[in-house]
Amino acid sequence: MPDRTVQIAVPRPLHAVYDYAVPEASPLPEVGARVRVPFGNTNVIGICTSNSVDSPHPKLKAVTEVLDYGSAIPEELIDLAKWMSGYYHHPMGEVFATVLPVAARKGASFEIDPPDSWAATHIEFDNKRAHAQRSLLDYIRENGPTAGADLVEAGYRRETLRKLVASGHIEAALPESTHTAEQPPQPSKAQADAIEAIKSAIGRYHAYLLEGVTGSGKTEVYLRAMEPVIAAGGQVLVLVPEIALTPQTLKRFQNRYASVGMMHSNLTDHERLQTWLKCRAGEISVLIGTRSAVFTAFSKLGLIIVDEEHDSSYKQTDGLRYSARDLAAKRASALSIPVVFGSATPALETIHNSDRGRYTRLELPSRAAGASMPTYHVIDTRGQSLRDGISNELHHVIRKHLDNRGQVLLFLNRRGFSPALLCTSCGWQAMCPECDARLTLHKQPRQLMCHHCGLRLEVPEACDECGHLGLIPVGLGTQRTEDAVAQRFTDVPVYRIDRDTVRSNAQLEARFDKINTGAPAIMVGTQMLAKGHHFPNVTLVAVLNADAGFLSGDFRAPERTAQLIVQVAGRAGRAERPGEVWIQTWQPQNPLLNRLIEKGYRGFAELELAERRKMGLPPARPMAMLRAESSNPGEALELLGKLKSQSSNLECMGPVPAPVARIANRSRFQLMLLADNRSVLHTALARLSPGKIPRTLRWSIDVDPYDSL
Ligand code: ADP
Ligand code: ZN
Ligand code: ZN
Repeated sequence: MPDRTVQIAVPRPLHAVYDYAVPEASPLPEVGARVRVPFGNTNVIGICTSNSVDSPHPKLKAVTEVLDYGSAIPEELIDLAKWMSGYYHHPMGEVFATVLPVAARKGASFEIDPPDSWAATHIEFDNKRAHAQRSLLDYIRENGPTAGADLVEAGYRRETLRKLVASGHIEAALPESTHTAEQPPQPSKAQADAIEAIKSAIGRYHAYLLEGVTGSGKTEVYLRAMEPVIAAGGQVLVLVPEIALTPQTLKRFQNRYASVGMMHSNLTDHERLQTWLKCRAGEISVLIGTRSAVFTAFSKLGLIIVDEEHDSSYKQTDGLRYSARDLAAKRASALSIPVVFGSATPALETIHNSDRGRYTRLELPSRAAGASMPTYHVIDTRGQSLRDGISNELHHVIRKHLDNRGQVLLFLNRRGFSPALLCTSCGWQAMCPECDARLTLHKQPRQLMCHHCGLRLEVPEACDECGHLGLIPVGLGTQRTEDAVAQRFTDVPVYRIDRDTVRSNAQLEARFDKINTGAPAIMVGTQMLAKGHHFPNVTLVAVLNADAGFLSGDFRAPERTAQLIVQVAGRAGRAERPGEVWIQTWQPQNPLLNRLIEKGYRGFAELELAERRKMGLPPARPMAMLRAESSNPGEALELLGKLKSQSSNLECMGPVPAPVARIANRSRFQLMLLADNRSVLHTALARLSPGKIPRTLRWSIDVDPYDSL
């Protein structure tokens, strides 16, 4: 009977979907239902992609269990998954594994937990010996309805809570809304125009580029543009970069709207699924989330916002290498709703799309609340002797700002103490034994660390080659800069902010709280500091070394460097006091740097985009990167050679060794493919046939790669 056959995508790296029979006794699962099926010699949970198939196979295996008869995922997400499988050339079953929350994949129930918020009833409490219960009850009477998690945080036990619920002294309560009647600022003319434009597109697909200088009040535009969506009972998805999702960000939305949810990688699997389910049920009206939140199921999504849309964290760099930014546009178009891409430094892809009329550009040319843009100054370091990477001139500028009670931010995109340990006698350098890479010297704890494979080694006393005792650290990392400025500017605190000092959003928040007390201080940090944060008292931003980024061989490096410089510069002068940006460079004549300083990011982007078009690079032409790695280099190279021979109608560059040619003892190669248009590229990629892959070899297709080196 053909109508009892379903097609299942199984969570395995296979491009096919499989037919199964549904036993007579069981109702037919809907498309999008989770179904347990026998596969190989185990059972797996797959997703039903069709329930009306004519199977050519006479003897089908039967479905073991139908977890949901109705759809677990809305049809729109199934279509998105199918599209991704084709676009990213990734197996269907694995696409679902990315789209669904982990707990959903493992078969967890789709029940939404009852609310965990508790209020006191009016029943008199007269048990004099139950001190713990008395104390908990008093706490709730004092604080009003309280979340169970907050009670635990305050030192109470769940058991005590249960007893009070059982005796009727406490009952479940709806959590009190945290939003205040805070008076929102009056939008500027530019903000108001942008808000109106976005509002006018509600109910149909339209993509906007909201290009607003740092501090121009893009968030205020988002908050107001979403008003009519929420008033009509709709939902809004706000994507933010990984590190920007701090309680600060959340609070800005909560102050305005009642049911705001959060989705990010620090949640437990259960919490993620719960949030996902609440969005699916329409209980959350604004979801703020990082990359994978783009896959959340919604009952009535009405608007998508991608904040800091240029940010690299929107691109997944392993497994299914998707771009959440691009998928946001795809989803918006499928749902006929508007999407807004906001940035002070839009990706060249996005500018290209707006140049071609695919996105409408909305501009916020000046800072909100009257703050002025920072002024740029270049320090020519040629012929100067720098002490710990800081020129005399910069030293004096730092002193001046601290004396004027300003805060100073020093930007250096390299963590650790120094990126090399060198023998002064023979020139030997400490290398990672597992990778083709230098080891970075770290202090606290003092060790050599490989930033590629994570290996940690003791710091040797003597040179490995010649036994000489004079090993010196060469080059500058954030730890060294921190040490150096702490010794020179003893009157102010120095805060280092990088992945070694800040491992969670809570830690980041704690640092920011200290910094935002406003007293003079120096911050030393990596790109972590560049992302969207608001430091009202920073008056000086210094870029210690602007050159490295512009000199890299990656064609995207100038774009990324310009974005970083403008973003980090954007931390200066965000409040009443104007800001200054000082840039140290060995190449003051560098045309890209000069263009950026003279014409701003837009001017830079136009020049760089013209260059990309001339070279036939993205976004002018689509690109894919094939990567292969193996403990046996010959194998990887051979595979890429074979794939290249199958791609004769594409422009191929390579195969060549990857920039770090060996990581954790596996050799890595890459082959860059360019085509004149998408359909040529995708036809070619779909035709690739690698043949039998040895166990030691791994390879991948990366469509629209972010890193091309
Ligand atoms: P962006 O995201 O564009 O860098 P923000 O949204 O963080 O900028 O806004 C910067 C600051 O300006 C915030 O403190 C915000 O509250 C304030 N702001 C935004 N719009 C206005 C306005 N129209 N009037 C006064 N202040 C505003
Ligand atoms: Zn030596
Ligand atoms: Zn290593």
